[in-house]
Amino acid sequence: MEIVSVIPRGYCQGVVRAIRIAGSTAKEYPDKKIYMLGMIVHNTYVVEACKKIGIRFIEDPGKTRLELLDQIDEGVVIFTAHGVSDAVRKKAEDKKLIIVDATCPDVIKTHELVKEHSRHGHVLYIGKKNHPEAEGTTGLSERIHLISNKEDLKKLPDFDDVLITTQTTLSLLDTQELLNACLEKYPDAKVMQEICNATRIRQEAVMQLKDTDLLIVVGDPRSNNSRQLAETGKRIGIKDCMLIENVNALSEAALKDKKRIAVTSGSSTPNELTAQVISFLKEYAQKGIWNLPLEINQPVL
Ligand code: SF4
Repeated sequence: MEIVSVIPRGYCQGVVRAIRIAGSTAKEYPDKKIYMLGMIVHNTYVVEACKKIGIRFIEDPGKTRLELLDQIDEGVVIFTAHGVSDAVRKKAEDKKLIIVDATCPDVIKTHELVKEHSRHGHVLYIGKKNHPEAEGTTGLSERIHLISNKEDLKKLPDFDDVLITTQTTLSLLDTQELLNACLEKYPDAKVMQEICNATRIRQEAVMQLKDTDLLIVVGDPRSNNSRQLAETGKRIGIKDCMLIENVNALSEAALKDKKRIAVTSGSSTPNELTAQVISFLKEYAQKGIWNLPLEINQPVL
């Protein structure tokens, strides 16, 4: 059994930055309540590590960030790497909260792009419904229209001066289909693909895997980019692709008869978790020892 560690994988620069900001905010404001608006990243282990340093999470999948802000009346609010709309920022300012902004520079770049274009035209933003990044970006102007599927596209009238762009963490393969559909309806539209470099190179590394029997993606099931990696594996023909949260989710049956196993992880997955999966698999491949469950390696902030 051969174990392939896919490179690049794991934390992207935007996530590393957000985690660093969370840590330094906890040190800077030891006497204040510190709230994070939503999950810092879609990973339970990172969230738990932040809670240990005193950060409180305001999270409700049924509510927008604007609504979640109603739950904070004092102290510090951290905006996550996914970014927020101007309305959220203004509401936090009006409430006199101390704002710490951990928005990823790649998301800021998309915000600038769509804001600029929506001053004179319309923006079709290909993204996921109810995802915080899509909520933040589409909340920047009424002329930004979320396109999650072809049905959303059908509902739109004819526009001139259209820009088509994307959420940063989408699947390269799926996005192309939706992009083509947008271009059929708006053939003169300008296209600016905003899938970020970190997402792109992690997916491209999976696309290059050859003769792989099993792809293991380490990541939280809520992590869009982790799910996309497993989806990419399926799309290029890897028969078995599994998304697991940690090493204990492995089963001996899943590895049976597999000659080549590749391991990768989403950009919100702590490296400690992926390293534990890889080292367990390598040892199993060498010695055939199945000693799960193990104590999970916790991420260090
Ligand atoms: S996945 Fe891309 S956009 Fe999202 S935080 Fe990482 S670098 Fe930024």
